[in-house]
Formats: sequence, C-alpha cells, structure tokens
Amino acid sequence: MMTEKIAETAKAGAEKFAYAPAPESRSIVDIQPSYGLFIDGDFVDGGGKPFKTISPSTEEVLAEIAEASDADVDRAVKAARRAYTRTWSKMPGRERAKYLYRIARIIQERSRELAVLESIDNGKPIKESRDVDVPIVAAHFFYYAGWADKLEHAGYGSNPQPLGVAAQVIPWNFPLLMLAWKIAPALAAGNTVVLKPAETTPLTALLFAEICQQADLPPGVVNIITGAGETGRALVGHTDVDKVAFTGSTDVGRAIAKSVAGTNKKVTLELGGKAANIVFDDAPIDQAVEGIVNGIFFNQGHVCCAGSRLLVQESIAEELLAKLKKRMGTLRVGDPLDKNTDIGAINSAEQLARIKELSDVGEAEGAGRWSPACELPAHGFWFPPTLFTGVSQAHRIAREEIFGPVLSVLTFRTPHEAVEKANNTPYGLSAGIWTDKGSRILWMANQLRAGVVWANTFNKFDPASPFGGYKESGYGREGGRHGLEGYLR
Ligand code: NAD
Repeated sequence: MMTEKIAETAKAGAEKFAYAPAPESRSIVDIQPSYGLFIDGDFVDGGGKPFKTISPSTEEVLAEIAEASDADVDRAVKAARRAYTRTWSKMPGRERAKYLYRIARIIQERSRELAVLESIDNGKPIKESRDVDVPIVAAHFFYYAGWADKLEHAGYGSNPQPLGVAAQVIPWNFPLLMLAWKIAPALAAGNTVVLKPAETTPLTALLFAEICQQADLPPGVVNIITGAGETGRALVGHTDVDKVAFTGSTDVGRAIAKSVAGTNKKVTLELGGKAANIVFDDAPIDQAVEGIVNGIFFNQGHVCCAGSRLLVQESIAEELLAKLKKRMGTLRVGDPLDKNTDIGAINSAEQLARIKELSDVGEAEGAGRWSPACELPAHGFWFPPTLFTGVSQAHRIAREEIFGPVLSVLTFRTPHEAVEKANNTPYGLSAGIWTDKGSRILWMANQLRAGVVWANTFNKFDPASPFGGYKESGYGREGGRHGLEGYLR
C-alpha cells in the first residue's frame, strides 16, 4: 500500500512546472579573440602553440589562448622572484592587505561579468556561478586580507615568514574558486605566485589578471600562464619555485609528488574523492533528499568532494529512493546561462566520454541504471542525472571517481557497517551524515577517514574552514587559518 502511494507521488512530481526560459545576457562579457600570458603585470605572447577554448554547452570556439613554453614558464617564475625579493616580501602585512581587499571589492563589483564568463567557459549553471562560486571567491580574498597583518597570531610561530615563489596548478571544475583558494592565502602570507589554470577553462583566470591590473597590484606578484599538462609540469618542476600547490587528479598529483621529492619545495595536494553521503533511518528525509541532490548533481557532479556514494539505511531505502527519483525528475538540464537551469554542460568531450564509459561499466557489472526522462540539447556535452541501485562495493562505479552527475546507491544496516563501507575507499576527502541524533553524528565523524564531514547538510564551503584530504585525496589544507600553513615557514 505504502509502496503504491510513493510510486504515485513520484509519478506526479516528475511532471515539471513549465518555466519560460530566463537567459542571462552575454553582453556583459567581452571575450577577446585571443589571449596572451600574464607575466610581470602585462599580457605577453606565448612561445608555444596556441590552443582554443570552447563553450561546452554549444561547442563554439570562444577564444584562442597562448601556450606557455618552458622559456615563458621561466620568464614568469623570474618575474615572480623579482616581485618577491624587491616588493612583496618587504611590504608590511597591512599594505598587502589593502591590495587583497581591493581585489575582493573589484571581484564583487565585477561579479556578474565573472559569473557569466565562468558559466560560458565551464558550462556550469549561472545560478551556481552567480550565487555560489563568485561570492565565495570574493569572501576568500576578504578573509585572507584580514590575516595579512596578523600572521604572528595564526599559530605558526611569533614571526612566520613567506616561502617565496609559489607554483600553482588548478583544475577546470571551479576555475575561479580554485584560483582564489590558491592565490588569496599565498599573497596574504607574503608569497608571489605563478598560476596555471586548466586548459579547458582559462578565461576567468585571465579576467582575474585584468583585475590585478585594475587593483594596481605590483607587477610580478601574480602571474597567470596558460597551457596544458606540459606547461604545468614545467612550472612545478622549475628549480626556482619554493612551493607547489596542486589541485587535480590523483594520478597527476602522484606524478608531481614524485617530481618534487628530494627538493626543498613545500607541497600541497588536493586530489580526487569518492565521498559517502550516509542517511540513517531517523534522518529528516526531505532534507536528506535535497542534500543528496546537492551532493551529487551540484556542478554536474564535477566536484572533488561530491557525495557520489549514497549509503542509505536499509529500512528506509525504498521510501528514500522514491523521493529521490521524484526530485531528480524536477531537475532542469540545459543552457548554463538560463537562470532556471540546475544541471549545465559537462566540461569537455573527454570528461563526457569518461562518464559514459564508467556508467556503461556500472550497467555491465550488474547495477541498475535510472535517469529521469530529460531532453538533452543537440549540441554540446550533456549527461542526464543518473543513479545506480544494486551497487556492491566491488563495482567500479563504487570505487572510482566518475566526476559527473552519477550516484551509486548502497545500503547498510548498522552504524558500524556504514562506517566500514564509507571508509572502504582509497580516497578520504569528505563525507555526509544525515541523522537526528547528535551523539551519532559525533561518533560517526570520529570514525570517518575524511577531511571534511558535513552533518545534515552537504557541500558547504566557507573561507574560514579548512578543506583537504586523507589518503589518496592528498595532503595539506586549504582555507581557514590552516590554509596559511602551506605558505609560511
Ligand atoms: P588533472 O589532474 O588532469 O588536471 C589538473 C591540472 O593539472 C590542469 O591544469 C592540468 O593542465 C594540469 N596538469 C596535467 N598534467 C600535469 C602534470 N604532469 N604536471 C603538472 N600539471 C599537470 O585534473 P582535472 O581533470 O583537470 O580535474 C579533475 C580532478 O581534480 C578530479 O580528480 C577532482 O577530484 C580533482 N579536484 C580536487 C579538488 C580538491 O580540492 N581536492 C578540487 C577540485 C578538483
């Protein structure tokens, strides 16, 4: 009886409200036909072979981007070294803070432009770039501006010193936010930086370079060089960098760890994840459903800390799944610039191919695949929100990071079993717990080997709280007071 009722409700709810499209205008952004490298305060030509960045939602070419050659990498590191020695390391913290506050305010002033550009280049929905990414980017600069003249109170000695030049390499899933996580603490601590954005999403980093000019940041304090893996390798391998900060895949992180072993470079690695989102039978179910949806479908699931493994207590699995399917039926997939869109485009053809491949493997290994009926646009890279039931811990979709809108559902009976299953992964970045009992939250949080544990919520980010992993999710922390440690000695 109960089951029938749930099935009926799910069917009714799957009918979406008809919404008129509400597209954000592109006219606020001025995308140039080509972009150079930002070195020593100016845009300069690159010595490598230029490449194109495209819109993942339309496949239209947006701009041609310079590729930094080894010589360009060297030029950028030299500019950062000069700026460090002559200007930035000598500047009192309260003066550095002024620049960071200025950058934060310009980000707020130009937030709409940044959000639209991020959505065009990355494919993420405008409501996310506008309401989540860009506000948190500004918040990071405000937050670390506040630390710049108080470093002696951060808990790292009475007179902590900057390291020097930081080489920073970031991925494509949160282009501007990852830039902020890297640049804000580095600058606050007195370091200068050379940052390389991902090859598929360079545009907002290049707009950030313009913001540095607008803020009159001394030349060479921030350098932005574009290119793919080779450029990244040359940057982290440069002999005159003091710090390597990398966010990206575990494979590349491992290669970087090897390449810097035996050098004096300090390293922070923020890598992949396969988080468990654990729902107990006493959880507020509707809230948990929202948390599950947010945990795996936010940013198309291109989130290192995505709750990609749902662990649900067996006694409520049927009810929860019915509600979850109903909610998934209301998600809008489509134009990233439409303010109604919940799920945008997959960032690249390569990423889409990986998501498809792993989903096919899930089916081949015997898991049950389900997606709501949804029309996908004819051009661009798209994948419907998908869940797999009947997943065992041995399945590849339960072990490997898919980095897409794909949820694997597993069940458990006891808290001990939940902990065991949650920890049964080479990763250890994040986890979620949904229960009414505070004592259970504390007990679980103690048992889970994850850098961040959310309780009755998911994917909450704040500049004041540290973020980072255990095991193959990397080491070092970004955010909060802890985020300064990687940039101080
Ligand atoms: P990726 O490792 O392929 O690329 C990341 C960056 O590294 C890019 O800028 C790329 O050009 C560069 N790169 C590639 N090869 C390199 C090399 N040999 N040396 C130096 N740089 C190199 O990862 P991706 O596909 O862009 O990003 C997705 C991955 O990032 C996922 O695994 C995700 O979990 C992870 N990620 C982690 C966090 C975190 O905070 N832990 C945050 C976001 C993304």
